[in-house]
Amino acid sequence: MRYISTRGEAPELAFEDVLLAGLASDGGLYAPVSYPGLARGDIASLAGLPYAEASARIIAPFLGEAFDGAELRALTQCAYSSFRHSAIAPLTQIADNLFVLELFHGPTLAFKDVAMQLLGRMMDAVLARRDLRATIVGATSGDTGAAAIEAFAGLDRVDVFILYPHERVSDVQRRQMTTVEAANIHTIALRGSFDDAQSILKSLFRDARFRESVGLAGVNSINWARVVAQTAYYFTSAVALGAPHREVSFAVPTGNFGDVLAGYVAERMGLPVGKLVIGTNSNDILARTLASGRYELRGVTPTQSPSMDIQISSNFERLLFDVYGRDAAQIRGLMGALDQSKGFTVAPAPLEAIRAEFEASAAYEADTTEEIARTYRETGYILDPHAATGVHAARKRLAIDPATPIVSLATAHPAKFPDAVERAIGKRPPLPEHLAHILDARERFTVLDNDAGKVAAFISERARAARATV
Ligand SMILES: *Cc1c(COP(=O)(O)O)cnc(C)c1O
Repeated sequence: MRYISTRGEAPELAFEDVLLAGLASDGGLYAPVSYPGLARGDIASLAGLPYAEASARIIAPFLGEAFDGAELRALTQCAYSSFRHSAIAPLTQIADNLFVLELFHGPTLAFKDVAMQLLGRMMDAVLARRDLRATIVGATSGDTGAAAIEAFAGLDRVDVFILYPHERVSDVQRRQMTTVEAANIHTIALRGSFDDAQSILKSLFRDARFRESVGLAGVNSINWARVVAQTAYYFTSAVALGAPHREVSFAVPTGNFGDVLAGYVAERMGLPVGKLVIGTNSNDILARTLASGRYELRGVTPTQSPSMDIQISSNFERLLFDVYGRDAAQIRGLMGALDQSKGFTVAPAPLEAIRAEFEASAAYEADTTEEIARTYRETGYILDPHAATGVHAARKRLAIDPATPIVSLATAHPAKFPDAVERAIGKRPPLPEHLAHILDARERFTVLDNDAGKVAAFISERARAARATV
């Protein structure tokens, strides 16, 4: 399997190189030359398999020569052994034809673990084979940083530097990042905002000398390997509900469009999907785009579902690439307009193609609180505020089509967002026992000024990849 950039001006790469590169050198995102298909019989035979085995079968066609069957099975086994639920991604029914897919049983209690646990092990394996080291630098407003730290802690070939805004993340989120003891993990509390951290990160990636000297690698949500890892739970949950003999719809709490894009990829591979429903919070750029065709940036509004507080849904570019007939020149045009005038209009035919498979609905703050309260009142089940945006969107779809089952993705454990849950139902969900220790474990972090030069120097002094080259 080969990969091409959505902007058409970067070299074609194999999976291993896409895994390490993250972003394409022309600023685009890598997409497979074509989507591999799974035959109906292959999909049906996933029924009853352990999650690690099913995911290896689903992911394999994307990897080319990167890992053979046995290597891949060893990687998925190892990745998912860190999960606290034996089903890895269990389904729970909360209403007629409405199911919640729990994706939060990994080490950091958010769905990002599903992809990141596998990504970390894949990267380490590729680096070992090439006898290289890499340095991962990430900026986080919470969940991604913790997931990356847990995935890479103690790995031999990778050093991780995570920037987060000093005194602006929740206690639990900070402690998840700062109490990990491994020597290859470095947390940097930046005296600035999340946007400042993100802009320092971008400047580090633009600096070719720095990039080369530390072997900079990206693990943010545009990394294709993360999308691929996420396709697996669309298959396993749909098969549990009767696919491929029956269509299933999905509702997905959406920020950067990485998770719901994985559902779209599953559909391209042959999974019979009804609708893919995009759930947004007040940062409703995708809901506005599907309604009007106009993709238009506005400021970010902070909400009780912070992991969806984004301005740009980066992975949407991969969908645009497909619905524009894979015409990279048109994508360059749209993205140029986005840079220059903060928006673009999706042409009528591509917009129709998007609407044929997707629908979107926004949950504003009161809707989210009401959804957590309603689900708890009716079933005793506690949703976190991200999952609640999905369920809110799923109920709207069921009102239109009550006959097709819908799976709503629960992307975080409610204990991660206790304040929002308490507002809705009057009680705080306790942290699972295996995480309780972080509340009094020793924290380790370095406070740095909002200055790209100081951050670069801090990283260069500590990255083992840098030491190997001097
Ligand atoms: C990252 C995240 C999301 C959004 O996922 P995308 O792939 O960026 O659309 C939703 N919920 C939680 C809890 C997250 O951490």
